[in-house]
Amino acid sequence: MLTEIAAVILPPVCDICGRLADADRRMEGYRAVYRKLYGTDTMLHICGKCLSELCPLENDKRWFVCLSEPFDNDPIPAQRLYMPFPYAQLASRMVPAVKFRGKKELARLAGIMTGALMAEDGITADIVVPVPLAPERYKERGFNQAAEIAFPSAGLLGTAYGGDILVRNRVTGRQSELRNGTERFDNVRNAFSVSDAWDISGLSIILTDDVATTGFTMHEAALALYKAGADSVLCAAFAGNRLVKNAEPF
Ligand SMILES: [Zn+2]
Repeated sequence: MLTEIAAVILPPVCDICGRLADADRRMEGYRAVYRKLYGTDTMLHICGKCLSELCPLENDKRWFVCLSEPFDNDPIPAQRLYMPFPYAQLASRMVPAVKFRGKKELARLAGIMTGALMAEDGITADIVVPVPLAPERYKERGFNQAAEIAFPSAGLLGTAYGGDILVRNRVTGRQSELRNGTERFDNVRNAFSVSDAWDISGLSIILTDDVATTGFTMHEAALALYKAGADSVLCAAFAGNRLVKNAEPF
């Protein structure tokens, strides 16, 4: 009741830019999908201007090699990465809002968009697995943004969700604070393994994260899945800056 009164007095504002959320009607389809996936209503509000900036890349431009700086003797040199949004416009404001302002609803928007596009592109797998977050980051944020991509993707693709398949073996520094590819590679080397509770041999897996920059984190997590017997791994990130220059750190 109080929320209803508040909504009349104070109309909802956009979770990204703070303007009046005038796109609520255009979000009806999204709301229905959200309700089906989570069993509750979304609290997300967005304005028309922000919504119009959420433009995916064309179908044939959503595919990348996982590592931006490939190296010799890479055991998985052809590791593929599906990344439907450029790190620009709305996506470049959504990702920091998720990470640094705890906007879980925006992570779910990113997840639902990524999952819907994967379904549209005919991508299938046995299970969707998120890159795990370090426990202290999880404590700080209260959610894992990679899991917020994985969970709705699994729902929209009609596949299983394996939220606890990958574990972090050790604490890693923030990739965004490291200067170059070598440092980022060293930072994540052997950082992941597959939980003893799971047998993933022979499974086809979609591995998710919110953003991919150099690709080292996802590459290392994919390697752990292959070592545990996965048949195939497809990395999938909501956005990245492979095609656009953006100085902003992730
Ligand atoms: Zn807005």
